[in-house]
Amino acid sequence: MLKKYLLAPGPTPIPPEVLSAMSMPIIHHRSTDFIPVLESAKKGLQWLYQTKNDVLILCSTGTGGMVGAVNNFFSPNDKVLVINGGNFGERWTKICQAYGLQVQEIAVEWGYTVKPEAVEEALKKSPDIKGVFVQASETSTGVYHDIQTLSEIVKKRDNTIFIVDAISALAAHDLRTDKWGIDIMVGGSQKGLMLPPGLAFVSISEKAWKMADNAKLPRFYFNFKKEREALAKNQTNFTSAVTLIIGLNESIKLLQKEGLENVIKRHENLANITRQAIKAIGLELYSKESPSNAVTAILAPEGIDGQAIYKTLKDKYGITAAGGQGKAKGKIFRIAHLGYADIFDIIIAISGIEMVLAEMGFPLKLGRGVAMVEKLLLLRSS
Ligand SMILES: *Cc1c(COP(=O)(O)O)cnc(C)c1O
Repeated sequence: MLKKYLLAPGPTPIPPEVLSAMSMPIIHHRSTDFIPVLESAKKGLQWLYQTKNDVLILCSTGTGGMVGAVNNFFSPNDKVLVINGGNFGERWTKICQAYGLQVQEIAVEWGYTVKPEAVEEALKKSPDIKGVFVQASETSTGVYHDIQTLSEIVKKRDNTIFIVDAISALAAHDLRTDKWGIDIMVGGSQKGLMLPPGLAFVSISEKAWKMADNAKLPRFYFNFKKEREALAKNQTNFTSAVTLIIGLNESIKLLQKEGLENVIKRHENLANITRQAIKAIGLELYSKESPSNAVTAILAPEGIDGQAIYKTLKDKYGITAAGGQGKAKGKIFRIAHLGYADIFDIIIAISGIEMVLAEMGFPLKLGRGVAMVEKLLLLRSS
């Protein structure tokens, strides 16, 4: 038997309470049974998003939410600014281009965070930019972009909206939608929310809704105005993903029991301990600045293939972490500490990494990383 451990940045493990809630018989999405279920999910998401704005619930993966954030608010040839510091930044560019927008990019070196001055300057030079797109946590590089500072820059402009892909950052970072003025924020179910894939969430500010009034891009499935009307009646436009939404209520209940501040703190601690353990092993982080609370990206040592580390962890020890994406493929591997994650998940990851690297001939002293995790944990609890 090979026991399996899921330590990937999505899908993430699902708590037993959530699994069991989702195993109940299905109810009809237009029946009165379902209205309170959707109402509760709606309120729960507003709590998680720290917003009074509508948070739409879409039946798609996170990328569906990203597509909707493009085709509901813009018109062909509109100029937009994309902060591209990794695989998911690149995805914003691809979606915007697929819909005929004029994309201006701020290319950020992988492993680094965007300089807010660069955004300020780009907006000054091109006041006709209608939207600024960014990732909160760029999952491919393990970097967090400074959403608060960026929001404050975009907020000053009446005709520009700020769109954040927070798919891997939700629950792992403090994202104050209303306080900071984030116009559109996209989330997904299979990351910090501890659910199977299949739901996307999108919060929308009044400023963004006003832009939607004049947006001419074609849309049918992701029609946010129709979703907004449905949401007001505690419904979704098309058939609701009933089972997933029941699970969502259960996972939000768990998060609320822990408290949002504690949830974020837990992610911060796990990320911090992981980084220290990685350094204790003698490895280098791939994220050079502002590391993410959701996932740690680690440089593969000289002469060792990052994909081989990821594959051996999986095949030999049953640990599903992640390799590299795009141009980081082969150079790095990644460990998530996202969602239903705690300290012993980190110990499993670090122990697995030590054994795999030792087998691959990397000079290390077995147990150094694990000892660091234990030491930091004891320090924190004393
Ligand atoms: C996982 C992820 C996505 C993509 O989500 P899908 O659910 O696969 O569509 C987008 N952006 C970020 C930052 C992610 O981590």
